[in-house]
Amino acid sequence: EAKSLGSGHACVFQSQMQTRLTEKKSFEADLKQALRKGELEIFYQPQVNTITREICGYEALLRWFHPIRGQVPPSEFIPVAENIGLIHELGDWVLRTACTEAARWPRSLKVAVNLSPVQFRSRNLIQSVVTIVTQSGLDPDRLELEITESVLLDKNEQTLETLTQLKAVGIQIAMDDFGTGYSSLGSLRSFPFDKIKIDRSFIRDVTTRADAFAIVELVTGVGRSLGMTTIAEGIETEEQFACVKQVGCEQVQGFLIGRPVPATQLDHLRQASNGVSLTEYEGLVD
Ligand code: C2E
Ligand code: MG
Ligand code: MG
Ligand code: MG
Repeated sequence: EAKSLGSGHACVFQSQMQTRLTEKKSFEADLKQALRKGELEIFYQPQVNTITREICGYEALLRWFHPIRGQVPPSEFIPVAENIGLIHELGDWVLRTACTEAARWPRSLKVAVNLSPVQFRSRNLIQSVVTIVTQSGLDPDRLELEITESVLLDKNEQTLETLTQLKAVGIQIAMDDFGTGYSSLGSLRSFPFDKIKIDRSFIRDVTTRADAFAIVELVTGVGRSLGMTTIAEGIETEEQFACVKQVGCEQVQGFLIGRPVPATQLDHLRQASNGVSLTEYEGLVD
């Protein structure tokens, strides 16, 4: 009796495992087809100067619209793409699409593209980036590649070499989500970053917690001293905006200024910026 119960449980367990494995495989298979099926799209989120309130550029954020799964967040599919080696193809597509798009924007606007650590470690990163940027016609200094602290954990010499080569062709480097990983302020001295993106977790608490405020103030100060642009991620309220502006943070990005939108809505937005009013800016008016 106990034995049959036990094996019954094992069976249920086994079939759950089976279901999960099947789902994992089907997710991966869907993701592999996503590009070809036109389910991927890049959304763009504005970054603005805190003082002039002018748009400095846009961050390219990948979106996956699956006919049945609906919108799958990048936090779910990027790690899978990294695991199955698909990130190179997806990353190249994002870079090509974003650079081609940005080449048509006014020259004052930059485009920021996220680079996965897996892409960063790839042997032919430099070659593929340079080829893509050149073909797009975008001036390389209008491209900002966002890397995360995790790439700094790897062999430092290789990391520095890669960053130096990217910088040599004029590409800008931004340190994304700064403060969330394990790298120290010292890493800002060792690597040639152009920009520091202060992580949203500090911004969320910047008006309510002294520790978060102290970190934002410190990082902004260090960034300024080292000649790097600082940008606060995830600005959602006027109070947060005023707070980061007060400590001297140069740029902001967040829902208060604008949510990520498709390139088509961006055209409209840019036309509006040359003309009358920007609804996205309403929240920022004094
Ligand atoms: P990230 O690079 O730090 O991008 C910023 C994320 O914060 C985006 O989430 C954006 O929608 C969200 N965000 C911006 N402003 C606000 C705000 O005011 N409040 C809140 N709550 N969130 C805000 P998203 O688009 O879901 O992307 C998540 C992460 O996925 C990105 O974080 C990035 O690490 C990764 N990712 C997105 N697109 C790509 C890509 O093309 N390649 C790679 N390798 N990673 C990507
Ligand atoms: Mg980013
Ligand atoms: Mg970020
Ligand atoms: Mg982030």
